[in-house]
This record gives sequence, C-alpha cells and structure tokens, in this order.
Amino acid sequence: MASDASSEIRQGGCACGRTRFEARGAPKFVANCHCASCRRATGASMSSFVGFKSEQVTWSGEAPAIFASSPGVERRFCSACGTALSYAGEKWAGETHLILGAFDDPRAFTPTAEAFKEEALDWLK
Ligand SMILES: [Zn+2]
Ligand SMILES: [Zn+2]
Repeated sequence: MASDASSEIRQGGCACGRTRFEARGAPKFVANCHCASCRRATGASMSSFVGFKSEQVTWSGEAPAIFASSPGVERRFCSACGTALSYAGEKWAGETHLILGAFDDPRAFTPTAEAFKEEALDWLK
C-alpha cells in the first residue's frame, strides 16, 4: 500500500453494480475466515475480509440487504445479484468487514491472518 494509506480510497461493489461501497484509509486487518457461518453465507470455501472502522466505509447506490446469520451479526449482500459484501458483528462493534473479492482492485489487499482455522476444510489446512 502507498505510504499515505490514511487518505487512500478503495472502491468496490456487487456483481450487478447496484450496490457500491467505498473504504477510506488503511484497513485494521486483512484476514481469511474459515468459519462455517461465513462459508455458508458466501458459498466460498473460505472468505477473505478487509476490516475497517465503520466510519471509514460509505455505501452508495441501492442499499444492501441484511441477513442476520447469528444474533448480533449483520451480513450485507446485494438483493438483486446475491453478491456477499460485508460482515458486521457485536463482537467487533463499530467495524465493517468488507469482502475482499468485492473490491474493484482485490489485489490491493493481502490477507495476513487466518481466523477459525479449526473449522477450515481439510484440504485448506
Ligand atoms: Zn448486485
Ligand atoms: Zn467467519
């Protein structure tokens, strides 16, 4: 990332383009999650997230739909095309974890942590 990461703006959105987001500044973390809940919600064998403070994130276009996969958890997705877009949970209050693959330039982020490794599919361990 550039040295002036605090002013960096990264954009992304869903497959059909109705829902867009913008993240300003450096993320708190970039991580892969192997938990069964993310696996089911995204349909992917593991899910990569870029974590921001919610005030760094701005949504535009069609407001994303919300699925509460667990109490206190909000997973945002496009209700038209189904793209998974973000995770927010009480355990990480005030944060929005954007799905790495939904960014226009997913190569801007490199995961440096693995979450819930014990739930990972055997062939990913
Ligand atoms: Zn869409
Ligand atoms: Zn997870």
